[in-house]
Amino acid sequence: MAVKIRYKTKIIIIGAGQAGLSAAYHLKNMGMEVGPDFVVLDGAPQAGGAWQSRWDSLTLSTVNRIHDLPGMSFEETLETDGSEVQANSAVPHYFDLYEKKFGLQVYRPVKVEKVYLQGNRFFIDTSTTAFSALGIINATGTWESPYIPEYPGAALFEGEQLHTRDYKDAAYFKGKHVIIVGGGISAIQLLDQISKVTPTTWVTRRPPEFRKVPFDDMAGSMAVARVEERVREGLLPQSVVSVTGLPYTSEIEAMEKRGVLQRYPMFSEITKKGVKWEDGTEVDADVIFWNTGFRWPMSHLDSVVPREEGGGIKMSGRLATEVAKEPRIHLVGYGPSASTIGANRAGAAAARELVKTLR
Ligand SMILES: Cc1cc2nc3c(=O)[nH]c(=O)nc-3n(C[C@H](O)[C@H](O)[C@H](O)COP(=O)(O)OP(=O)(O)OC[C@H]3O[C@@H](n4cnc5c(N)ncnc54)[C@H](O)[C@@H]3O)c2cc1C
Repeated sequence: MAVKIRYKTKIIIIGAGQAGLSAAYHLKNMGMEVGPDFVVLDGAPQAGGAWQSRWDSLTLSTVNRIHDLPGMSFEETLETDGSEVQANSAVPHYFDLYEKKFGLQVYRPVKVEKVYLQGNRFFIDTSTTAFSALGIINATGTWESPYIPEYPGAALFEGEQLHTRDYKDAAYFKGKHVIIVGGGISAIQLLDQISKVTPTTWVTRRPPEFRKVPFDDMAGSMAVARVEERVREGLLPQSVVSVTGLPYTSEIEAMEKRGVLQRYPMFSEITKKGVKWEDGTEVDADVIFWNTGFRWPMSHLDSVVPREEGGGIKMSGRLATEVAKEPRIHLVGYGPSASTIGANRAGAAAARELVKTLR
């Protein structure tokens, strides 16, 4: 059996999206060297994190807001003639230039499969090479873990079931009746696009809370604080939008006028032809489109990150990036830091605190 070489370093960063690159930048800024001091592993085929996989119609004018990575403005990398810029090309371009500018050599595509302890070192097994390290910064985002709630009858449905992650463009749905499930930002954006080309039925667990007041920094930090509180108690994080509400945009106003924001409560079961509510009402559909969010893909950490009863992870540290029961592991882009600005701040905090812990 071939002996697997295991490369030794101090810190492994898993994932090179906004969160992983922010952490790498700050480690480098503290004088740490790529290779002997830290190594960045990324499962994606190219730079850009999950942004490279997002749909074409997600443009810089329809995203929420993409905050600059530390040390380099996004805007200065944009090459545009003023027309719509697709996020799935602009952000990967920006991340690629960023990695080169700061010499953040990222090993990709390298998927981390399992992390386990061997003595006082973490052994990291990947799809290609093996590593060992004293500390881990996990920045694996959410895109790899789409969430679809279980409903009775799901296996019976003769139509198609898709998740936000599968979305390419609205034209795909032309001529089909689409049940759109979910009340988050993506659900509303895709309901807007799809309802312009084909009939839709919109279903959510709770009535959407549209926010008509501007979302200032204070509101932002209060929202993040609420999510942070939960992870400090070891509870599963809620989505940030569930605490911020949905910004009431001109697009939403137009959707109201078009009558496509007629919302129905969740159905109780799925049938061969569609969905059914408790009162017996049924709607036939060709597609059930689940915009029900994502979870954090961290099964590779199962043997080193203790879970609380409800499946949550007890977090500590300045910005709740530190795994309270294993402070040599930090989770960046998890829970309160699941936004570009959150990822930036959490990357800085995790880098500083982990270096201190290891020292
Ligand atoms: C549709 C959509 C729109 C959004 N719009 C905005 C917005 O406008 N503004 C905003 O602030 N936030 C937005 N967000 C949230 C945003 O995704 C995050 O805030 C941020 O970009 C996530 O960065 P990340 O580094 O945590 O994760 P990602 O960008 O997902 O990067 C994680 C990286 O880890 C890699 N990876 C995963 N598992 C492994 C493994 N086992 N081994 C090795 N590598 C692995 C992945 O391949 C990926 O490259 C949006 C999210 C979605 C889904």
